[in-house]
Formats: sequence, C-alpha cells, structure tokens
Amino acid sequence: MTKTTRFAPSPTGALHIGGVRTALFNYVYAKQNKGMFLIRIEDTDAERSTREHEENILKGLSDIGINPDKPPVRQSERSELYKHAAQTLIDSGKAYYCNCSKERLDEMRSNQQSKGLKPQYDGKCRDLNLKADPTTVLRLKTPQDGELIFHDLVRGEVVFQNSELDDLILLRSDGSPTYHLCNVVDDFEQNVTTVVRGEDHLSNTPRQIHIQQALSYPSLEYAHLPMVLGQDKKRLSKRNAVTSLQDYFDQGYLQSSMINMLARLGWSKGDKEIFYLDDLISDFRIQEVQKAGAIFDPAKLDWINNHHLAALSYDNFKERLVPFLDKVGINLTEKQNCDEIIKAMRSSKPTLLGVANDLIPYFSEVDSYDEKAANKFLSGSESVLQFVQRKLNSLEAWNEESIDHALQEAQTVLSLPTPKLNQPIRIAMTGSTQSPSLGLTLSLFELAEVNNRIDAALEYLANST
Ligand code: GLU
Repeated sequence: MTKTTRFAPSPTGALHIGGVRTALFNYVYAKQNKGMFLIRIEDTDAERSTREHEENILKGLSDIGINPDKPPVRQSERSELYKHAAQTLIDSGKAYYCNCSKERLDEMRSNQQSKGLKPQYDGKCRDLNLKADPTTVLRLKTPQDGELIFHDLVRGEVVFQNSELDDLILLRSDGSPTYHLCNVVDDFEQNVTTVVRGEDHLSNTPRQIHIQQALSYPSLEYAHLPMVLGQDKKRLSKRNAVTSLQDYFDQGYLQSSMINMLARLGWSKGDKEIFYLDDLISDFRIQEVQKAGAIFDPAKLDWINNHHLAALSYDNFKERLVPFLDKVGINLTEKQNCDEIIKAMRSSKPTLLGVANDLIPYFSEVDSYDEKAANKFLSGSESVLQFVQRKLNSLEAWNEESIDHALQEAQTVLSLPTPKLNQPIRIAMTGSTQSPSLGLTLSLFELAEVNNRIDAALEYLANST
C-alpha cells in the first residue's frame, strides 16, 4: 500500500521551526517509501485562521523544497464530509446528543477536582436518546473500560486506559465539527497511512483512534516527534528563539542549511552532521528519532550554514549574496575587483547578511571605528601607521605577497608583536579588527585608497588627543 503522510498545520501563525521539522519528517518518510506527501490546512478555527498565515506556511515549505504531491485541501471547505461522518456515527448508535448545560458541566468538573479525580464528562446523556436541538452537542460513545494500545514508530507501544478518556464532542451545538472529528475524517478521506506529528498530540491519538474505530476506518501508523526546545530547555517559542523560517532566510541562512538543521532536531546518524535533502531521503530512519526533547542550538545552525555556504561554487555563492548586498547598499559594479574582494571575505561570517555587512568597508569609506578596537589598538599607533604607510609607498609591486613582505620587514624593524603592527592598519582600512590576513586585505584596495584611509586614521588620532 502506498505510504501517504500529511502535514496538517493550523494557519493561526507564521510557519515556525517546529512545524517545518514536522513537515520535513513527513516529507522524507513519504519520499523514502516512494509514497505521497500531502498538506492539509486545518482552518476550522475561523477566528484565528487567516489566508495570510496559510500562504506564509505554504511558501515557507516550498522555499525549502517541500511541496505536496496534490494540491493542499482546506478543512473549512469540507464540512459536508464531517457532517456525513457524524451522521454515520449517530445512525450506528456510536454517538449521542447531550444537552448538559455549561453550569452543570462546570459543577461536575469542580466536584471531580475536589475529590482529586480527573475532570471528565460523566456520561449523563449517554443513554437518553436525545434529539438534536440548538442546545445539544454530539458526543462519541467512547468505550468505558479496557485499554487502547497503539504502536508508535518513535515511542514503541503506547497504552491508554479507556476510563481516562471521556465522551469527546464531535459536533458543537451550532453543528460545527470539532478538530478531532475533522482530523480523523480527513486522514481517511485523503488515504493517509501515517501520521507524523508533534508529541503534544500524543494524548489526542487514543481519542482519534476511537473515532476511527467507530467509523470502521482502517488504522494508521503513528510517529510522535519530540518537542523542539530552546536553549533554556523550554518549548521553542518566540521568547527563547527566532522561530519563523522567513526570519532565518532574511538573515542569509540557506534553505539547505535549514533542512540540515531541522533534520538534526531529534534525529542523528553517527557523527555525520552535514545532510542535504537527498541524503535524508536515503539515510533518515523514523525509528531512530529520539524520544527526548530536541534542543535547537543557533550556534550549531551557524556552523551548518558555514559548511553549506562553503560548499557552493563561487558563482552560486555570489548569486545568493547579491540580494543581501542590495540590502546593505553595496553596488558591485563600483569595484572592478569585486570578485576578488568577495572571495577573500566569503567565509567572514556564517550568514550571507553577515558577509554582506562585512563587505561594506570594501565598497564605501570607513565612517567610524569600532570603539573598543580603536581604544585598544589605534590610540598611540601614529608612528606605526606612518612607518607602514611609508614602507607601502616604497613598494614597486602592489600585491599580497609584496605587501606581506613589507609588513614583515616593518615588524622586524619596529620589533613589535603582530597585533600591535597589524591591528591599527586593519582598523584604519576596515573600521574593525576583523578582516582576512592583512596583506590580502590591503591588496584588495588601491594604494591611493590605503593612503587615504591611513591619513584618515591619523587625522582621527590627532583630533582625539
Ligand atoms: N492541526 C494540528 C496542529 O497544527 C496538527 C494535527 C495533526 O497533525 O494531526 O498542531
């Protein structure tokens, strides 16, 4: 039988890291089984669901190459299916109408709680054979004793006591279907075979299996994924991390890096750290997903992105960098040696936006110096700057090798430790102490520009004393 998985987001917010990880695992599991991956928009909560969120979710997934094998469906457009299923349950006596008032239910719950019992519906209307009216909800006749056991691909055998599960509501008093009913009916209607979702849905599963069984639907495979946690070991949220996928793209994390990082949230393969989508399709094993929460580590994402950026050909890297250069106001046509500059700087930061920012001093004047760096290395460096400037101006050839040579000679003559010689010049050239080797950095500028920048640093020092 063709394995069919689905990602079933509720469009009540932008696509977040935990959701993308669920979608990815569903996608990979389907693809490695030569099956189908579907998307279902669970938008029955009309107040909180928006088309904007839906579009954000679908675009985010498509940006990282996760596209469904059939057009996505929306629950809000399928209410006939749910009503029909509810009718089947009524006709077969597996569901009943209940007219218990809110006051009665509240009182019942507080009585149960005061006796230390789990609050749950007591089944008062179960055998009353009530008819539907505007005050009634439809409830499932859940088995009252025995166990519900299912096998979870991640967690093994999972057992729930039926006595812990009350008669859940299938239709609200206005006739609208609830989440559980829609979810079960759609999995059946879409021929889903495998439900891969967050562990937060684990307690929903026995309830949904009861609905499935009452409707004589075939049973499904389940895999409940560990929660994604922030560095503080709390559930990943806007409070402890950047959770929106788009925000990562906006920083210049590659799509492939996001996939790589997401795959490692709860799954690993020995020491291997770098995975592309195709590797996952061959290597991923859902049974190897861990049960413990998976911590999202931004430093690890940086490390992964570094690798993915380094693996790009130069042309590909440049093409991806250009939008970020635009963002920071860099126009490549202004510099003939722009490729040389980019090649020298391409690993300066783990993100494309970081690299673009680091490129600014190579394309425009330095308008300020990093304060800490200036205090530490620039103050008192007048004679070093002047000496090196003279030395550079006496060079016959202007290239990395000859500049390195001149710098070494200067260091010997002045008998200074490397930072004392290099950092003042580096700060003069780029505004900070971060740049590639100094010879390479200087060679990226014309000598006239080196003079301008050293003069500007000397002037800054003259004015600041
Ligand atoms: N709509 C549910 C959610 O966004 C997912 C339900 C499921 O995957 O079964 O959490």
